[in-house]
Amino acid sequence: MKFAIVSKGDNRSEQIMATMKQYLTDFQLEYNEVEPDLVISVGGDGTFLEAFHSYVHRLNETAFIGVHTGHLGFYADWVPDEVEKLIIEIAKTPFQIVEYPLLEVTIRAKSGGSEDRFLALNEATIKTADGSVVFDVEIKGEHFETFRGDGLCVSTPSGSTAYNKALGGGIIHPSLDAIQLTEMASINNRVFRTIGSPLILPKHHTCLLKPIVDRSFLIAIDHFTTNYTNVKSIQCRVAEERIRFARFRQFPFWNRVRESFVSDDNN
Ligand code: NAD
Repeated sequence: MKFAIVSKGDNRSEQIMATMKQYLTDFQLEYNEVEPDLVISVGGDGTFLEAFHSYVHRLNETAFIGVHTGHLGFYADWVPDEVEKLIIEIAKTPFQIVEYPLLEVTIRAKSGGSEDRFLALNEATIKTADGSVVFDVEIKGEHFETFRGDGLCVSTPSGSTAYNKALGGGIIHPSLDAIQLTEMASINNRVFRTIGSPLILPKHHTCLLKPIVDRSFLIAIDHFTTNYTNVKSIQCRVAEERIRFARFRQFPFWNRVRESFVSDDNN
């Protein structure tokens, strides 16, 4: 099996990366950053997002696992003390795969016909540094509302515990093929009206955001923000592709939610 390691770059993560690389090659696994079967992220959720985007072009061939060197992460859920156990598991055991849905975002330009396509593991956010964002929101080809406000967040189920949660969105189990739209400070008065609640869309219910006031938009895909002008539409839907996690032990989603947000003891 071929493996690669993506490290956060701090001393602790670099040390753990060196240990894992050494032991796994001693076990006759091949270190290969170009075509890895398994990508190990060492750091936090931000490092895991980096690892995902570095290998987003080969999701069908690559599985991911995360070791955290800071506080418990959602994606980085192995602790440094478990690294030796994890090395043995990776070297000896054919691992199970657990798949989670992703968000597909297609940004189309008004003129020139160009389009950019992205996959997000957590979410896409659309904001502007230039007043309010104003766009028509279409769902499944039908006008749903005209949104005015700070912006919108469209998240995956596994990203529902990230930015989406801070916006009052619901937590969705990643076994559901869905995306969630949450508002950022929508303007609601006698003139402007939005639904005001998070919307959860199933697979094949495409959401299209069409700017009606020309702005430059700050579009973030997970941890990476780009400035876009000349935007005709932003299309969001559940992606055909999925992320594959290498699973060596049970750590159910709801336990991770509980340990991250409610309590980290067993009481
Ligand atoms: P960062 O360093 O600002 O960390 C953001 C925090 O989000 C970290 O504590 C990380 O552990 C946590 N996080 C990331 N993915 C998560 C998930 N799926 N579930 C629960 N917690 C999660 O930024 P970063 O590490 O580069 O991560 C980028 C992410 O930060 C974005 O994808 C977005 O979800 C999140 N973010 C959150 C807010 C907010 O909550 N107000 C604002 C901006 C970005």
